[in-house]
Amino acid sequence: MKKPNGYIIYKGKSLLDEKPIVVIALAKSRNTKTGNMVQTYILREDIDPREANKKGEDFSICGNCPLKGEPHNDPKRATAKNRACYVNLGQGVLIAYQQYKKGAYPIATSDQIKELGRGRVVRLGTYGDPAGVPRQIWDVLLKDCVHHTGYSHQHNLKDS
Ligand code: SF4
Repeated sequence: MKKPNGYIIYKGKSLLDEKPIVVIALAKSRNTKTGNMVQTYILREDIDPREANKKGEDFSICGNCPLKGEPHNDPKRATAKNRACYVNLGQGVLIAYQQYKKGAYPIATSDQIKELGRGRVVRLGTYGDPAGVPRQIWDVLLKDCVHHTGYSHQHNLKDS
């Protein structure tokens, strides 16, 4: 059987607002120079990421980060107004969400989460803020990693 290129490493409540979120870790391209990074997408479990951004429902994953823009109801716009976040919602984020909805990603066991990070550089919150996810998940993922990147925008919300 073909090995999945991604796993669900968390599915549950956001620590920021208790709404449903899911974290997908993508671990393909182990052998390429630029691909030797585990990417983690923190997503609303129940809403298309563009819609979540447009409606402000992305508080669950981005908290009060100023880069997410301002919510609105303008039917002509797909995402929030004045969004300054460097992550393109129409590409990797959307693909990860759609694949998740298709059932492409199995739920990882704790051992599998640890194995995903082993010997790799791990990016916490390729999309979304790691502060929305229980710390134990990141601790397991980072246990045997060589390095990690990622930071929180929620300094004024809570200690992460
Ligand atoms: S920088 Fe991070 S927390 Fe801020 S809007 Fe972009 S993904 Fe969300």
